[in-house]
Amino acid sequence: MATYDYIIIGAGASGLLMADALGKDNFFSEKSILLLEKNFNFQNDRTWCFWEIGHGEFDAILHKTWDHILVADDRYSKRMPITPYRYKMLKAEDFYTAYHEKIKKHSNITFLEGTVQEVKDQGNEILVNTETNTFRGKKVFNSIFDYRPLLQQQKYPVLKQHFIGWFVRTTKPIFDIDQATFMDFSIPQHGNTRFMYVLPFTETEALIEYTLFSENVLARSEYEEPIKSYLKNELKCQDYQILEKEKGNIPMTSYNFNAHNSENIMHIGIAGGWAKPSSGYTFMRSYQKTMALIPFLKKEKPLNTYFKKDRFWFYDLLLLDILFRDNNKGRLIFGQLFKRSNPHKIFKFLDEKTTIWEDLVIIASCPKKEFILAFLRRIFLI
Ligand SMILES: Cc1cc2nc3c(=O)[nH]c(=O)nc-3n(C[C@H](O)[C@H](O)[C@H](O)COP(=O)(O)OP(=O)(O)OC[C@H]3O[C@@H](n4cnc5c(N)ncnc54)[C@H](O)[C@@H]3O)c2cc1C
Repeated sequence: MATYDYIIIGAGASGLLMADALGKDNFFSEKSILLLEKNFNFQNDRTWCFWEIGHGEFDAILHKTWDHILVADDRYSKRMPITPYRYKMLKAEDFYTAYHEKIKKHSNITFLEGTVQEVKDQGNEILVNTETNTFRGKKVFNSIFDYRPLLQQQKYPVLKQHFIGWFVRTTKPIFDIDQATFMDFSIPQHGNTRFMYVLPFTETEALIEYTLFSENVLARSEYEEPIKSYLKNELKCQDYQILEKEKGNIPMTSYNFNAHNSENIMHIGIAGGWAKPSSGYTFMRSYQKTMALIPFLKKEKPLNTYFKKDRFWFYDLLLLDILFRDNNKGRLIFGQLFKRSNPHKIFKFLDEKTTIWEDLVIIASCPKKEFILAFLRRIFLI
């Protein structure tokens, strides 16, 4: 039975980020690292977007960037410059290729294909079983996500950011290539928080995504019919080709993911609660969380002592409480937020880098009654 200092389960976004962060740091050069993935047959199964100031780690492999965003609701539509940020897009296949290349160069990392069936915590060591092998690890980072424990509890509301997106090519130039439609709430809400998300790559090519922040996923046609009518009615386009499709279902919750960690097991990526609860954005957060984790790992402390709740966790919880009770409030909240605040301040707040004073200014730009009620309910129910 092979023994490793670190076993990383899953070579998706967080697994590859973690493997590279360990591999390139000399502190870990004597540590043996195993990266286990069930399917090496990587496809371009997703695109990742994030905002960032200036030059960043992924710039060499970006697919597109935008300097403006558009936010709209049923009453207004606002195109905004996002300086000093840029909204950046990365295709998963470009990331996988680049990170596989990087990781191959770290001689202490073994990359194996295998489907993990069980992770057994034996206290001082962890046994990881695949269909054919058992590996022994001193520390395990697990990125296999399971929705079930989230849905089996009621303390924290669980919403989903779920969507289907079409990559389309139109015959006529209809897209503004310098503007990402961040949230267009002008579409029918049907009692939920629903919006269109449009990322143009050229004047004739874009990703158009029908997105909900809600409790239950829909039938495929309930995402695709609205995309068709958005193309027809909003973009005045009936002549187009669908090049590819993507779909996703990301948990939005302040659930205590750390409850699944132990002294020697840490869940990472979506499985570790790294998706921002109030927005579903995960990719850049996974990079930032990985980089922040490295100095902690050097101290060799129990892995389950790392995560701490902070005020941003609580703000997210309040928003999710509101949307869980009244799922149609998203349009009002996000609409008002972008109408009254500068996107620069909103991105900084979502990145959890604002001061308390800046937090209050942002929160005050949202509908106050909803947040005060949610706050009182949480305080008296907790
Ligand atoms: C279509 C789509 C678009 C998205 N767009 C954005 C975006 O624009 N911005 C953003 O911030 N976030 C986005 N996200 C959310 C998030 O960034 C991604 O889901 C991201 O891939 C999560 O990383 P992860 O490491 O948690 O999971 P994954 O990347 O899914 O990695 C998990 C890995 O574990 C492997 N695995 C699973 N089970 C086993 C097993 N039993 N044994 C071995 N290996 C296993 C899987 O094959 C996979 O490679 C998107 C998600 C999707 C699905």
